[in-house]
Amino acid sequence: MTTHHTKILIIGSGAAGCTAAIYAARASLNPILVRGMQPGGQLTITTDVENFPGFEHAIQGPWLMEQMEKQALHVGTQIIDDHIARVDLSKRPFTAVGESGDTYTADTLVIATGATARWLGIESEKKFAGFGISACATCDGFFFKGKEVVVFGGGNSAVEEALFLTNFATKVTLIHRRDTLRAEKIGQERLFKNPKISVIWDSVVEEFIGTENPNSLTGVRLKNVKTGTISEIKTDGAFIAIGHTPNTELFKGAVDMDKDNYIITTPGSTKTNVPGVFAAGDVQDKIFRQAVTAAGTGCMAALEAERFLAGH
Ligand code: NDP
Repeated sequence: MTTHHTKILIIGSGAAGCTAAIYAARASLNPILVRGMQPGGQLTITTDVENFPGFEHAIQGPWLMEQMEKQALHVGTQIIDDHIARVDLSKRPFTAVGESGDTYTADTLVIATGATARWLGIESEKKFAGFGISACATCDGFFFKGKEVVVFGGGNSAVEEALFLTNFATKVTLIHRRDTLRAEKIGQERLFKNPKISVIWDSVVEEFIGTENPNSLTGVRLKNVKTGTISEIKTDGAFIAIGHTPNTELFKGAVDMDKDNYIITTPGSTKTNVPGVFAAGDVQDKIFRQAVTAAGTGCMAALEAERFLAGH
């Protein structure tokens, strides 16, 4: 059991954490980055990435994260394979204890633990994830040009994703488990007015259907929860937009969060309510959730931590 002390501890190794590490290392802060349970974060479970600037052709999400981590290492980050089990942010230096038994003490902390997309959780969903099923229309919508897609969910994300997908798909069907949407009215109006979008109410997935080797989604079997009727519709793609869960369990009671458990940061900044603690990436962003915005806030967090250290 070792105690590591650092000027800046970064928890999380997705785009936000790695970018914070790159900036902090280049500012000679000798950062420690603790990788966590899913090294590389959400990009490691995607395939083609076409919207991260700097690459003419599609790159692979896992490859991009490998590069970010190598870059962070190369400029002087100490990367540690551990999963933080508890933190004490009530006094400086802050303390974090890993499942390995190691203790990390830090003058500043960057929380970059990300968020996890919620999935429906049925077996056939796993089979076609990345092969027709996606949890991110902004990332994958482009691949459905001229095709038909369905979107699951009834919140703002589902409505925004359905509208966004009309830029590519010939037909978008929103499927919701109830008979009203919880999305804001303005979004609902746009959705109902759009001639490419239709809605199937009161329905849940029984099974995703498709071909195997190579796996490819071709349709979805639905059950009407009011009548029990089973139906099948053809589709090329399915977007799951039933919400995300920010990975903030560890920080409950330690930093301020909103009603959905996202960490609250000062607008235009990554500052939390605890001086010296910064939050970057999806852990504090329920709106954009992009690799590039996560990287952007990771950069901000490192620069703000550097300023904080200079002032103390
Ligand atoms: P929400 O939690 O708001 O909505 C999730 C939707 O998915 C609900 O309609 C819910 O149904 C449905 N759902 C949940 N679990 C299941 C399941 N197992 N099977 C089928 N359906 C399911 O998530 P969002 O991602 O839409 O939004 C999260 C937060 O982010 C909200 O506060 C939202 O307002 C905000 N947001 C804001 C945006 C903006 O301002 N531009 C853009 C996107 C999000 P039910 O309604 O029955 O509970």
